[in-house]
Amino acid sequence: GAATRDRLRIAIQKSGRLAEPARKLLAACGLSWRESRDKLFCYGESLPVDLLLVRDDDIPGLIADGVCDLGVVGRNELDEQAGARAQVGLPQAYRELRGLGFGQCRLMLAVPEDWDWTGPAQLRGRGLRIATSYPSILSRWLQEQQIDAQVVELSGSVEIAPRLGTAELICDLVSSGATLKANQLKPVETLLESEAVLAGPVGGFDDARAALAQMLLRRMDGVLQVRERKLLMFNADREALPALERLLADAGPLVQLPSANGALTLQAMCEGTISWQQLEELERAGARQLMVLGVERSLA
Ligand code: ATP
Ligand code: MG
Repeated sequence: GAATRDRLRIAIQKSGRLAEPARKLLAACGLSWRESRDKLFCYGESLPVDLLLVRDDDIPGLIADGVCDLGVVGRNELDEQAGARAQVGLPQAYRELRGLGFGQCRLMLAVPEDWDWTGPAQLRGRGLRIATSYPSILSRWLQEQQIDAQVVELSGSVEIAPRLGTAELICDLVSSGATLKANQLKPVETLLESEAVLAGPVGGFDDARAALAQMLLRRMDGVLQVRERKLLMFNADREALPALERLLADAGPLVQLPSANGALTLQAMCEGTISWQQLEELERAGARQLMVLGVERSLA
C-alpha cells in the first residue's frame, strides 16, 4: 500500500491532447494551483489537491506505484497497460472511475485502401504483420478472432509502417481518419472506443484522501452532468400552457415561478442544445421573452 498522505495527488498529461481539457475540468471542480518553477508539480491552493504533470504513458504506472492517487488518461493507455501487467502476472492496480467525455477516439485496425474488406476472418493463415503501439490490446483481439498475425510494436508513426514495409496492416488511434487517408489506409475494425477517463486505485484510500477523492468525484459528476444542460425561461399566458407543455415533453418538468401580473413565468431544464427552430415553435405557441441559460453548477 501507499504511504499515508493528507493531500490528494492527481497525474495529468503535461502537454498534448488531454492536458488542457483535464486542467479545465479540474478547475471547474473548484481546484486552483500555484505552479512550480520546474512545471512538474502544481501545488493546490483552494484544496489540498496537487497535480503532477507527466507523459500520459506514465500515468497508469504512477497510480499503480501509489505515487499518484488519481490520473486523467486515455482509456486506450489504461487498458493497454492493464493488459501488459496481466500478461506478466501482476495484479490489477487501477480502475476506471469515470468517463470524462473528451479525448474521444477509436483504436482501429486499418488496411491498405485497395483491399476488399470482408471481415477479420480474412486475415487468418496469411502470416501478416500488424504494426501498433497497443500490442496487448491487439494481441487480445487477435486471439479472440483466432487470427495468427504477428504484432510489430512501434512507439510512434505507426501509420507509415506499411509504406516502409515493416508491416502490412496497422492498429492505431483514429479520430477523423485523415492520417490514415494520407497514408492510403482505411479503418475496418474497432478494437476499443476510447475517451479520457479518471483512473484511481482498485482499493480506496484509508486516510484524509478518501474524503477529498469523494468530494472531487461528486463535484466532477456535477460538472459532467451540467455540461450539456440548459435552463429555458419564458413568459406565457395560462391558455398557452397545454401547447407549450406538449412542445417541451422531452424536457424536465415545466416549473411555474411566482410572478406579479397575470402572465406566467416558466422554466424547464433541457438536456442537450436548444435550436433556434425549437425556440421559434415555442414562440408561435405563445412563449414570450424566451431565454436559454447555461447551467454553471448543480448538486444532485
Ligand atoms: P505524451 O507526450 O504525453 O506521451 P502522446 O503523444 O502520447 O503524449 P497525445 O497525442 O497527446 O499523446 O494523445 C493523448 C491521448 O489523446 C491519446 O492516448 C488518446 O487517448 C487521445 N486521442 C484522442 N484523439 C486522438 C488521436 N486522433 N490520435 C491520438 N490520440 C488521440
Ligand atoms: Mg504518450
